[in-house]
Amino acid sequence: AKAAGRSNYQFFVPEMNARATERLVLENALRRAVDRNELCLHYQPQVDAVSGEVLGCEALVRWQHPVRGLVPPAHFIPVAEESGLIVPLGNWVLRAACRQQAQWASEGLETLMVAVNISALQFRRRDFVDIVAAILAETRANPRCIELEITESALMEASDDDLARRLAELRRMGLSLALDDFGTGYSSLAYLKRLPIGRLKIDRSFVKDLPGDPEDAAVASATLSLARDLGLDVVAEGVETSAQRDYLAARGCQLMQGYLYSPPLTAEAFEAWLTERAG
Ligand code: C2E
Ligand code: CA
Ligand code: CA
Ligand code: CA
Repeated sequence: AKAAGRSNYQFFVPEMNARATERLVLENALRRAVDRNELCLHYQPQVDAVSGEVLGCEALVRWQHPVRGLVPPAHFIPVAEESGLIVPLGNWVLRAACRQQAQWASEGLETLMVAVNISALQFRRRDFVDIVAAILAETRANPRCIELEITESALMEASDDDLARRLAELRRMGLSLALDDFGTGYSSLAYLKRLPIGRLKIDRSFVKDLPGDPEDAAVASATLSLARDLGLDVVAEGVETSAQRDYLAARGCQLMQGYLYSPPLTAEAFEAWLTERAG
């Protein structure tokens, strides 16, 4: 047993080191990514299921590493969160998305909403509301066209009073608020009703196996009927098939986002997609 323990130990340490080193390398590269212009945003359309109208889009960050190529957010967002880098990175994302909204507005897309992901760490900062205000002023974005996507966990972690006050301030500035990854946390809709949140995003994990999976179907229907009673909008994430769309639309889900319509696109590709759709 002792020998086995020792060999385990010897095997274990280099591997842990390799992983820790890889993480550190990634973190350092990420630290420089903003200054080196390696980040960009892609935009995924949000479409009205009934009219087919494109009402908005979600901004999703992309990292084009000079050697590694395109690094998926699932890979670097956790590193950014653990290292605290998510704060400057998230501010960069918000600024870039606001700048894009202002540009689109000047090109005739005055009502297109742009949704931006806000990490719990960013949201929890005392100066979050001030930073948002400064970015809006700097970019001249229309706050009525900017939606902040906040996860359930970010809301759960904040203290009640503080949370309600911050959300109210953001609403007063004209911003919209959406609850991201809905269903993956533990918030009750009754609790949400007390917060100025206008929209829920049903997580892709509940959409993926619709309409066949009875549990997911139950979660989706229950969410939609409660959301309707409480006067909340719903966006379904990860809609890939017309069967998923039909199931959700029949239960009152207005907005759809997913590969059925489009993957996330560069700003230019998004504009071309809009033009093609209109023609
Ligand atoms: P999310 O906020 O749930 O974003 C939706 C993810 O689902 C995106 O992955 C999108 O590309 C993907 N997706 C959309 N439609 C479909 C579909 O029909 N099928 C499938 N299989 N996937 C679909 P992405 O871009 O890789 O982002 C992953 C996650 O990384 C996001 O999940 C979000 O949590 C995080 N993230 C992305 N950008 C940012 C950002 O700027 N800030 C922060 N804090 N997090 C971000
Ligand atoms: Ca999101
Ligand atoms: Ca999600
Ligand atoms: Ca299931």
